[in-house]
Amino acid sequence: MPTMAQTADHKIELPAYANKIMLILDERGMKELSFSELDKTAAIIEVYLLMEANTTIPNDEVSYDKLEVIRSLVIPDLLFDQRIGTYVILGCEAGMANSLKKQAEQAGFSDQEIRVLSVGEVEAKLFCVKCYHYNSINSQDTVLCKHCQTKLDVSTHFSRVRDAYLGYVAI
Ligand SMILES: [Zn+2]
Repeated sequence: MPTMAQTADHKIELPAYANKIMLILDERGMKELSFSELDKTAAIIEVYLLMEANTTIPNDEVSYDKLEVIRSLVIPDLLFDQRIGTYVILGCEAGMANSLKKQAEQAGFSDQEIRVLSVGEVEAKLFCVKCYHYNSINSQDTVLCKHCQTKLDVSTHFSRVRDAYLGYVAI
């Protein structure tokens, strides 16, 4: 089995009953995640790297079954026609992870079959339009405001003034 370099310490927790794991990483994910858990699963592991094709791929320590460099953020072909037991694990910065998560959902993956790992030190903020406080955004489409307990929809409206995405009251 070929292997991949390991440089950081955010562990990847693997789903217990996966038959196949599609690990989609950007350069940050490569740097910040620890892949040691991948050696402990019997699942097939496919690694997809979102980076320039001429980037040198590091080559020790982690086992995988397939490694491919992909350049497009739109990867429906990759995600369609996957069998039950296939999981998508996203190790990319938040914006890209959100986009890929939506694509995976459209391709038929359930919430449980998609894991988003936190990568990147810049955290997006969500501005509560009801109480005017900020929340951190996770991988969910809705956030419960920590300050006023209102359920907020994470909108795509980014306010430069607030330096945050606007969270509208969820209906
Ligand atoms: Zn609020």
